[in-house]
Amino acid sequence: MLSKPCLAPFTSVNLDSTGQVIPCCVYNLKGDDKNAYEYFPKPNLADNITDKFNSWDWLRADMKKGKYPSNCDVCKLRGESGKTRADDYRRNLEPLITDEMENPKLLMMDLDLSNKCNLKCLHCGVHSSTGWIKDEAKLLNVNGNKFKRETRPWRSKIKNNNILDLLGSPELTKHLKIVEIKGGEPLYQDQRYDVLDVFMKHDVAKNITLKYVTNMTYKDKKLLELWSNFDKVKLIISTEGTGELYNLIRGHKTTNTDILKDNINWYVTKFHELKKQKHACWFKEKLEPLKDSSTHLSINWSVTAMACNIMDIDNIFDFIESTNSGYNIKGTGSTPTLVVSPDYLDYRVLPKWYIDTARDTMSKSRHASVINFNNKLSYWPEEKRQQKFKLYVDYIEEICRLRKQDPYAIPMWKELKDDYMAI
Ligand code: SF4
Repeated sequence: MLSKPCLAPFTSVNLDSTGQVIPCCVYNLKGDDKNAYEYFPKPNLADNITDKFNSWDWLRADMKKGKYPSNCDVCKLRGESGKTRADDYRRNLEPLITDEMENPKLLMMDLDLSNKCNLKCLHCGVHSSTGWIKDEAKLLNVNGNKFKRETRPWRSKIKNNNILDLLGSPELTKHLKIVEIKGGEPLYQDQRYDVLDVFMKHDVAKNITLKYVTNMTYKDKKLLELWSNFDKVKLIISTEGTGELYNLIRGHKTTNTDILKDNINWYVTKFHELKKQKHACWFKEKLEPLKDSSTHLSINWSVTAMACNIMDIDNIFDFIESTNSGYNIKGTGSTPTLVVSPDYLDYRVLPKWYIDTARDTMSKSRHASVINFNNKLSYWPEEKRQQKFKLYVDYIEEICRLRKQDPYAIPMWKELKDDYMAI
């Protein structure tokens, strides 16, 4: 995957919820690029974005020579058995680039408005979810922070970017083609309307594809009204489990996959009703073809694979397929992305017999993405595996204890207890 220069630093910035600007959302702040970690953001967001993007000549030159800083290790690790963030940039931006490899330009912004989120997924933390703040503080005190939770106080609180700073800098938005809005939960952000207002006021909304990576548990009609001013809208829905596993992973007792299904139908139906009211002639010419094509509002899925859901991957894709109906709803998700940090959530902590059982199920899948994923799975050396497996089980038990949930209500988790006891 890193055989060609990654397109991110040539075309894109990621703004994280603390105001840090880095090339992409998985660029680790603690790698060789010391500037990424030590850099203290300027108070004005637009200045911060401009300065950081202009400062990456060294990174772009290195990448052209095939040299990647250790900040890019997540892409290297994920590339061993799954899709990487660099792959996403290539797929989305390669059709759009002209001379950006020689003259870098911002074609894409990936914006974390804040860490406000209504869920607290097992594989997340305070960096991206306010729901995690209390649990993270408690986990920090378990055996000298044995789960390696976030210790930096400035990342462990509620954070907000002042997105309206961008209003004074139309230069920054004039070439934009893709704006990816994240959070926390992007549909639930306090500044969810303000951010769209920036692009509408700069008169570039019509050129922009909006992307939201969302948990799809929240409905908002005003957002829908604003979306109709943009070229395209893509909703990328994250899901990591079915049935009770969904609630355990999401850290929420009442949200479930039926709610996801209802909300998808609500967004798609309401969006097209609004389009119809706003553009009667547009509707006549364009709405019917939309039923068969993937233009304007589309739905796709993001599945993250880890130790706690490896046995459920095929069920997740069956669920995704069951949401398929009319308009632009796509029935399949792309190849799952791996959790590689913290490493005790990596599926390779699991005993070989367990991974092999999951592989056997996946090998019979009807879904090409599942087969593709299954073909790339691998194993860790046994000594490393056992050490991390113990940490994994301890983590799951501790977090479920804090949340008053029963991890062994999940039969596929119960099966692992004997292996744990044997170590
Ligand atoms: S290689 Fe991966 S981590 Fe590095 S900048 Fe590209 S997308 Fe980000």
